[in-house]
Amino acid sequence: MNAGGKNKPMNITGPCTTCAEFQEQLPELFESGVDLKEQEHLKTCEQCSALVDDLEYIAQQAKLLLPIHDPSPAVWDNIQSSLAGEKQNAGANPTSSSAPSHTK
Ligand SMILES: [Zn+2]
Repeated sequence: MNAGGKNKPMNITGPCTTCAEFQEQLPELFESGVDLKEQEHLKTCEQCSALVDDLEYIAQQAKLLLPIHDPSPAVWDNIQSSLAGEKQNAGANPTSSSAPSHTK
């Protein structure tokens, strides 16, 4: 079991993770969608816990700004049909070219 003097942890999210190691992994952990609150390091480190809180807050704000994360074809269908509707309205009701002349 004792393979040499190196004690680099295989599992980066283990209880022996340092702040630097944890924060290095943070973007990956964040993107993978795991529950960061379950990370061992956060249970013992207020500093990184606060950092994760900040990141989660930022991520929430970003989601609010971008509600459509993955636009489905139906969304584009709606957009296209509404655009087509506007064009039809414009064609049936020409207001730009032949406005009623009002001369003094
Ligand atoms: Zn830490």
